[in-house]
Amino acid sequence: MKAEYDAILFDAGGVFLIPDPAVLAPTLAYYGAGSDHSLYVRAHYGAMAAKSRAGGGESDWDDYNRAYVAFAGVPDHEVDAAAFVLQRTRHAHLWRAPLVGSVEALRVLNERNVPIGVVSNASGQIAEILQRSAICQVGDGALASVRCIIDSDVVGVAKPDPKIFEHALPFFEGIDRSRIAYVGDSVTMDVEGSTAAGLIPVLVDPFNDAADLVDCRRISSLLDLL
Ligand SMILES: [Mg+2]
Repeated sequence: MKAEYDAILFDAGGVFLIPDPAVLAPTLAYYGAGSDHSLYVRAHYGAMAAKSRAGGGESDWDDYNRAYVAFAGVPDHEVDAAAFVLQRTRHAHLWRAPLVGSVEALRVLNERNVPIGVVSNASGQIAEILQRSAICQVGDGALASVRCIIDSDVVGVAKPDPKIFEHALPFFEGIDRSRIAYVGDSVTMDVEGSTAAGLIPVLVDPFNDAADLVDCRRISSLLDLL
C-alpha cells in the first residue's frame, strides 16, 4: 500500500505539547475550575476551536482564554476574571506538557523512515522545550529524530503566513510539497497556512470541535497517522 504522505511536518503546540495543567489547574481552581488534568486537554482543543471560529490570529487569545476557563469548569460569573489571569499566566515556556501518543507516533514514523519535521509559532524556545519534554530533537539522539525544528521567532515569519514553511522545505528536498502533510491544531493558522503553502492540511481535533469549520482530514491523535 502506498503511504498517504511522503513526509509529515508538525505543529508543536496542541500537537505534541499543551499549556501545563500542573501550573494552570491550581491557578484556575481559585475561580472554580476543576483539578483533573484531562479537563485541561479538553479545554485546549475547545478553546482552539473557539479562537478559530472568531478568526483570532497569533496575537489574539481572548476567545481562547474565555473558552478555556469555561471548559475547565470556571462558572460563568468568574469567566472574565479567570481569563484575565490565564492570559497573564500562560506563556510560551508553559507549553510543555506532552500529549499522550505523540512520542509513540514519532518513534513509529522514525522506524518507518518517514521524513518528519516541526514548524511552530514560538518564541525561540521550542527546540529546547521539545528536547526537555522528551519529544524529539533534530538529528540523531536519545529522542525521536526530526529533520528540522522551525521556530517562527527565529526565522522571523509566523503562520498563517505560508512563507514559514519555505524554511522547512529545503530539509525535504526531492519530496513534492503536494505530498507533505502539515499536522496542526488551529484552523486559522495551521490549516489555512499550510493550504496556502501547497501542503496537505491535517487538523488534530480529538473532540470534534471543528467539524463545521474545515473539510480537511481531522484526526483525534497522532496515532491515527500510523
Ligand atoms: Mg498549535
